[in-house]
Order: sequence, then C-alpha cells, then structure tokens
Amino acid sequence: LIKEPRKKAEDISVVYELKEKLGEGSFSEVRVAQHRRTQRLVAVKCIHKRALKGKESLLENEIAVLRKIDHTNIVSLEETFETPTKLYLVMTLVTGGELLDRILERGNYTEKDASRVIHQVLEAVKYLHQLGIVHRDLKPENLLYESPLEDSKIVISDFGLSKMEEQGALSTACGTPAYVAPELLQQKTYGKEVDLWAVGVISYILLCGYPPFYDENDTKLYKQIIKAEFEFDSPYWDAISDSAKDFISHLLQKDPEKRYNCEQALKHPWISGGAALEKNIH
Ligand code: ADP
Ligand code: MG
Repeated sequence: LIKEPRKKAEDISVVYELKEKLGEGSFSEVRVAQHRRTQRLVAVKCIHKRALKGKESLLENEIAVLRKIDHTNIVSLEETFETPTKLYLVMTLVTGGELLDRILERGNYTEKDASRVIHQVLEAVKYLHQLGIVHRDLKPENLLYESPLEDSKIVISDFGLSKMEEQGALSTACGTPAYVAPELLQQKTYGKEVDLWAVGVISYILLCGYPPFYDENDTKLYKQIIKAEFEFDSPYWDAISDSAKDFISHLLQKDPEKRYNCEQALKHPWISGGAALEKNIH
C-alpha cells in the first residue's frame, strides 16, 4: 500500500538517458531524462553530496521521509539512484509549466482561480506538516501545473531537502528574501508557520501581480518583512474583495503564534466558501 521507491545501486545512466536541464540550484540540478527501455520521460534531481558532507545520515533520514510522500498536489518521487558523490531523485515529469507564466498568458483570471490554486497548495502543505515536514521554500517557481490542460492541477515540485540545505537555504534566502518569514530572517527558531507566511506572499502576488514586500535595498526590505509592513495599495487592490484581504492579513501576520495554520486557512471563506469573486482581475 505504501509507495516505497526502490533505491538503485546501479548507474542511473544505464537506465535513463539524461537530457536537457530544467533548473539549477546551489546543491543540485534538475534535468529531463528518458527511460531507455520504455522511452518514458521523467525529471531527475541530481544532488551533489559534497555540499552535504558530514550530514550523510541526515540525508538518509530525509530521503526516507521523501519516499513516504504521496499526495495529489506534490510531485511523486519514483525511485532514487546513488553514487559515492551524487544522489539522483527520479520524479514524475510535469509538463504544464510554472504557475506565474501560465497566469500571465491567460486572457482572464479571477479571484476564484487564485483561490483554487491556493486551496491546492494548502492541502499539500497540510499533508507535509502532518508528516512533520516544513517545506521552507514555497514560491511560485516551485508551483507547477501538471499538464497544459486548462483545468490542470497544481503540484509542488521542489522536495527541498529542507533540513539538509539549512545553511545554503538561509544564505539563498538572504539573497532573495521575498518569501521569507520574519522569524526566519531574524534567525529565531522557526517551524511550520514559515510555510503559511509564504502562502500569504504567494496569494498576494496572485491577486495583484507584485510582491507585498519589496525594496532594492536589502536592509530596508528586511526591515519591512520583520515588521510585516505591507499594504493593499490603491488602485491595484480596490476591486479585490475584503475576504481576500482578510485571508492574506491572517497569513502575513508577524507573530507566528497568531498566524493562521493550514486548517484555519482552509476554513477561511475565501478558500472554502463562495467569497472569492468570479470577475476578471487582469
Ligand atoms: P531547486 O532546488 O533547484 O529549486 P526544483 O526542484 O525547484 O529545484 O527544480 C528546479 C526547476 O526545475 C523548477 O523550477 C521547475 O521549473 C523544474 N522542475 C522541477 N521538478 C520538475 C518536474 N518534476 N517536472 C518538470 N519540471 C520540473
Ligand atoms: Mg525550486
């Protein structure tokens, strides 16, 4: 019943032909790969172990957790391969493209559409939190449409070896802190709440097209985030429902203890009820 992808000691290149690069991070790259026998295409995340030196046992734990993830809004881990220097995570290839690109291409787009996207993200995050996983790196680039179909579902693509990438992620975060919660920036202890903050930032962007916290000067940007200082600026937000604003305000809440958790967010009328408007917002 429980999906447990097998770990292969054989060389991945015997089984898959690695093809073009889809993305690149500090510890890893993601490529398209084709199964040599079946011709089926997959996405392979290749992680350089040297970046994780001294933490190999942590890595084993994280992979064990990733293997258990089985949710309709999270990309599936199919199998893993390992060499002394690299770890390969074979994932289902999704083909619908990134969230923001698709929204920008669409002629019309409503609050209801944004609410449907956020609903799926919250269901996935709730599931991760129940497994004790904090994603820590939720942002639009990590939210992909499964297929090019109009009614395609959204999947979280980045397994983000969250604990493993601790140091790296923090320094990356300091490069682009747009989605980072105040308590993370202040290097306080943090928990699941940081993911709900990120959902608040993503919701804000989906409704107006620009981020809630922005300054060319990083120090000023940090200050804005630490104070949770944002506005629903006129005229951009004038036609957006009070319900949407109320929802976002509960997520972009500076105090993690007062911030909505997944259950509360899922119960909000903008997500679960009919409060999201059906009129075009761009
Ligand atoms: P990183 O840690 O480098 O951010 P991600 O897992 O987010 O790694 O992948 C980087 C990029 O690769 C994503 O933004 C996405 O465009 C692409 N990608 C990742 N996983 C898949 C997948 N399963 N199918 C298709 N594209 C993917
Ligand atoms: Mg990513």
